[in-house]
Amino acid sequence: MNQPAITYFALIAPACVVLFGFALLTCWYVQRRQPQAVFLLWLSGSFMSLATALALQSLMSNAQLGQFALATACLYLMGCWSLAQGMSLRLRGKGVSVSGGLLIASVTLAVLFYYSQLENNLLLRIQSLAFAMALMQALALPAFVQLKPAQDWVESLVRWTYGISVGYALFRPLAVSLLPVNELQDLTRSGYWAFSQVVALVFAMLFTVGLLACSVRDMVTNLRDERNRDPLTRLLNRRAFMEAGQSVLADRRLAPWALVAVDIDHFKRINDNWGHAAGDQVLVQLGQLLPLQVRDKDLVARFGGEEFILLLNRVQMSEAHAIVDRVRMQMRAHAFEHLPERIRMTASFGIVPVRSAEELAEALCQADALLYAAKGAGRDCVQAAMTVVRPIDDEHAAIESVADTALSA
Ligand code: GH3
Ligand code: MG
Ligand code: MG
Repeated sequence: MNQPAITYFALIAPACVVLFGFALLTCWYVQRRQPQAVFLLWLSGSFMSLATALALQSLMSNAQLGQFALATACLYLMGCWSLAQGMSLRLRGKGVSVSGGLLIASVTLAVLFYYSQLENNLLLRIQSLAFAMALMQALALPAFVQLKPAQDWVESLVRWTYGISVGYALFRPLAVSLLPVNELQDLTRSGYWAFSQVVALVFAMLFTVGLLACSVRDMVTNLRDERNRDPLTRLLNRRAFMEAGQSVLADRRLAPWALVAVDIDHFKRINDNWGHAAGDQVLVQLGQLLPLQVRDKDLVARFGGEEFILLLNRVQMSEAHAIVDRVRMQMRAHAFEHLPERIRMTASFGIVPVRSAEELAEALCQADALLYAAKGAGRDCVQAAMTVVRPIDDEHAAIESVADTALSA
């Protein structure tokens, strides 16, 4: 194509959008083992497709725009559908309607065929394509309904950029109808074209910066989670508990504290009778049950095997005792999945007060000693510093405790 140099300036915006597409592709490549990162691939594909269409059209005269109207429209429509798909996958882990996309694309291509091959009408072609692109992008809007509030401003930036780009896309068919005739005479050299390019570039830039920042943040969060969480129950592991415990105990507003050691009774029999996988499921379910019994700022950790630790904030020993006894009763009453309905699990507990961060290691030893005293006192009971409380509750008398289960059960 023998184009004046100024035409090539029109390629700057599409070239930048392609670069942003490559940035998203690289980001996907780094996280490709995580299935949820696939949205980056769709967004990268979307940028490439839209930029290619924009670049090709920027080099065309009005006559060529008509000649290649269907090919460039396909690229635009695919680009917008991929954008909606990527955004929807990111927001709710579910893609947008394929049949909806195909319907919009077929109707639009039919209209464009008519207004390019049978009757040449540039204005109606621009309007119908702009409207179809807006509809394609709007396919992702259901993902915005019932969305949890954004975690931070970067997340808000991504959502707002998409929302505004849909609003802008919907407004474009109307704006195009207000264009003066001379703007349409040589469309790709017009002020309208330059403006469209700048807008595309700004949206792509904001979107990419926001998404890259979110990806880096997600990676850091995942790595921190891998380091701090027990892979089976997703509770804090020992190391993370010690770190979090130090900072909780340094905050005097959360005083007084109580430390609780929990150990499932006769857990080995679960493995022996119903298999290791059933044992794992009991641990997972207890990992869900324990946090529900305490407050948000209380810490719940799995210290290893079938032993758990709780750090309760703002509790006197009497209150801690009541909380732990409630946990004990809940545990007894809980019908664990993967175990026969009649089987109930029990646990033993040791509670000690903690007054400062320096006392944490010592408190853990004391809670452990009290826990083993509770085992010695017959299990399914709570031993607090200086007291033993074991309320007798007969309401589950008909239910078999795992303690009574013969190995051959
Ligand atoms: P006690 O009432 O005295 O606490 O008896 P127990 O059987 O609960 O305790 P013991 O220390 O004898 O056995 C603990 C068992 O927990 C042995 C081990 O195989 C099992 N265990 C430890 N970690 C896991 C795990 O991640 N998954 C499963 N399924 N079992 C585990
Ligand atoms: Mg045990
Ligand atoms: Mg144990």
